Amino acid sequence: MSDARGPAVAFEDVTFAYGERPVVEDVSLTVDPGAFLGLVGPNGSGKTTLLKLAIGLIRPDGGSVTVFDEPAHRRRDGRRVGYVPQDVGGASDGMPITVAEVVRMGRYPGRLYRRFGADDRRAVAAAMDRVGIADLADRRVGRLSGGQRQRAFIARALAAEADLLALDEPTVGVDAESREAFYELLGELNAEGITVVLVEHDIGVVTTHASEIACLNRELFFHGDPDSFVETDALAAAYGDAHHVVAHDHP
Ligand code: ADP
Repeated sequence: MSDARGPAVAFEDVTFAYGERPVVEDVSLTVDPGAFLGLVGPNGSGKTTLLKLAIGLIRPDGGSVTVFDEPAHRRRDGRRVGYVPQDVGGASDGMPITVAEVVRMGRYPGRLYRRFGADDRRAVAAAMDRVGIADLADRRVGRLSGGQRQRAFIARALAAEADLLALDEPTVGVDAESREAFYELLGELNAEGITVVLVEHDIGVVTTHASEIACLNRELFFHGDPDSFVETDALAAAYGDAHHVVAHDHP
């Protein structure tokens, strides 16, 4: 687990544009090791982009992003980051590989030519067991429910001994009961020391489960604890007229 002294993720004056107009602008945000950060904001506010910047999938046009004190796009293998991408319209539906094969990928980064040994097999089995999908090891990923698929991606991150888990709306299309179980699992992993950065459109879910909230709409409108977030007008400011669309259905 993390023994870093610096932040898990640090954005400093980060700006990013796909075209002319920045979709992330002047964002400075620090995520401490062990935090559970919920990233909220209206549709198209730059949440996915910020997550991709955090894990180094894209590089900022201005400013810097570091993960455990290293540039996000140029990390050594030592600090592993697990990414659970958005499941856009069942993107993995046709995936012919099995759950166990997906989880095994977690053992490969940076050591492609290494033999797959007993340690690896143990790590893969333990990771599947940890997220409750051991019985699905031989099932094709394309045959899983949304919630099971997200667990398979988390198991891949656990097999990689990830210190940081970045998740992009992991429970879209997942029923309420499985969603609760999923967030319980995330909370447990976080309590075990894994830093979590979660993009989630449901404000109720985030304020319940996250230890801190960042509210984005191109710029950062708020970063702090959930109680303060609920009390400020950051939500209305960031969402403008659209804030009613995030009303949640949780008690
Ligand atoms: P969110 O996750 O908050 O919905 P995104 O980060 O996905 O927001 O998108 C922010 C803005 O950038 C949106 O206006 C979106 O249309 C645009 N965008 C996202 N990805 C791309 C891309 N690959 N090329 C061009 N524009 C993009």
